[in-house]
Amino acid sequence: MPKIHLCTLEWHPACFEVPEVHFIDAPESSLDQQTALALTREIIEKERFFNGWPDFIESPWFSAEDFGGLISDMRAEQAEKVKKASSSPTAQPWLDALKSKGLNPVLLDADAQQWLAKCPLSKSHHFMMVSLNSLTWGCGYCKKKGNLISIL
Ligand SMILES: [Zn+2]
Repeated sequence: MPKIHLCTLEWHPACFEVPEVHFIDAPESSLDQQTALALTREIIEKERFFNGWPDFIESPWFSAEDFGGLISDMRAEQAEKVKKASSSPTAQPWLDALKSKGLNPVLLDADAQQWLAKCPLSKSHHFMMVSLNSLTWGCGYCKKKGNLISIL
């Protein structure tokens, strides 16, 4: 199947500052503006925890305005989820502790109370997963996991 150009986005992590061209495997006839925006949303959902919110460079399927609308919808949804997840009485003190250590917790899954935070074992060069339900943490890079109380 031919590769179709979905969109070109620029991400801003420290390690790569070049526009990234995203392709999909699909028949061209199956794509329209709405589908292209939905697929772009999926890409952003996956990437943004690590790479932040991207800038729009180009897309054959939608305009910079359409992209701006998508990002502001996504930011509003995320803000609502973060507000809800942060207000849980069990999560609150742990979030405060993570923030006070400069570990910058980012909400991954509101229902499961899963957060990403900078790994304190790495001088903050990568992320660890934190579950505020089970009060555990795990780092795939350091191959370590444990109880949150022991690391904070
Ligand atoms: Zn680590």
